[in-house]
Amino acid sequence: METSPRLPSAFGMTLDDWIAWAGANGQTTFRAKQIVQWLFEKRVKSWDEMTNLSQALREQLAKTFSIERLPVVRLTGSQDTTRKFLFRLHDGRLVETVKISANVHFDGGQSDRITLCVSSQVGCAYDCKFCASGLAGFTRNLEVEEIIGQVLAAEEEAGESVCNLVFMGMGEPLANLTRLIKALEILNAPWGMNIGARHMTVSTSGLAPQIEKLALVPMQIRLAISLHGATDEVRNKIMPVNKKYPLPRLFEALETWRDHKKQKITFEYILIEGVNDHLAQAEILAKRARAMEAKVNLIPYNTVEGLEWKRPSEVQQEAFLAVLKKAGVTATLRREKGHDIDAACGQLRLQEETAEGIISSVKGR
Ligand code: SAH
Repeated sequence: METSPRLPSAFGMTLDDWIAWAGANGQTTFRAKQIVQWLFEKRVKSWDEMTNLSQALREQLAKTFSIERLPVVRLTGSQDTTRKFLFRLHDGRLVETVKISANVHFDGGQSDRITLCVSSQVGCAYDCKFCASGLAGFTRNLEVEEIIGQVLAAEEEAGESVCNLVFMGMGEPLANLTRLIKALEILNAPWGMNIGARHMTVSTSGLAPQIEKLALVPMQIRLAISLHGATDEVRNKIMPVNKKYPLPRLFEALETWRDHKKQKITFEYILIEGVNDHLAQAEILAKRARAMEAKVNLIPYNTVEGLEWKRPSEVQQEAFLAVLKKAGVTATLRREKGHDIDAACGQLRLQEETAEGIISSVKGR
């Protein structure tokens, strides 16, 4: 069977890219703006709907770019309204995105605010010992349009805009830095997905040089560090990346970050029984957080099939939190959502084997 070559996606391009394309194809900048408006503001699903463009231009666009959405292979609902999307990428790989709705009360009413947890890679190379995503290793980086596509699909399913976006799905976003930066630009742009920079958080296991590069990008995005250990000794045991960038190197990068960004850094700290939940770790963590004026987000460890780790008792969790608070650190103990559908932090994993089943069942309809 002859397969036609895959067209580049319309959702991987910035307005500047469209302007350049228009210029090279005898079109005006105004046309480029119209195209972008159809794509991102009106969210049309076919070139034909772009009624203020000439037939010839629409045909040329259709031959040159794809406007396809990422196909959703499975949408799992959780009892707490968390939803997990499983998307199939053009090469058959699968990627997960988690949508978390928080019911927010405000004067005169309430509304659902959507936080979307997006993936940046298929698999992950960093091999953190507690995380499901690294279990099967690294497959590939996501393309810009595959990052944007997760957000588009979630907004279309919800019928409303995403309020907060966190790069805490599968993968290490800073290992896919060039695409990440372009995706952030499209996500943030008023002509694009229009999500405020302060509402986007990039989470990293601690790639120091890339933190320094991202610090220079003129966008007030937030940074979360998956710290999980307050000393090199503890961190080395559970996060191999710490051997490459030990804490002094990581904190040097955080200083650079702070020179360029206004928002407080967040330290994420999974509590794992007997590994990093000792109160002596809490004392050191408190000092580190204070030195960086960072907030601490404690996450009781989520069970991952095939891994032996356990979450500490609630008494221990609270005691750990109390040490931080007593030291004057802004800290929270996160109560996870989506645990029942394996959509909570660290539970997103490669889905290739199950994919075979899903795809064959779709084909066999
Ligand atoms: N690679 C990036 C982005 C993934 S974020 C990073 O490490 O930050 C995923 C978040 O979930 C990280 O804070 C990660 O440390 C956390 N996490 C991983 N496994 C977990 C588990 N089993 N329970 C709770 N949180 C986990």
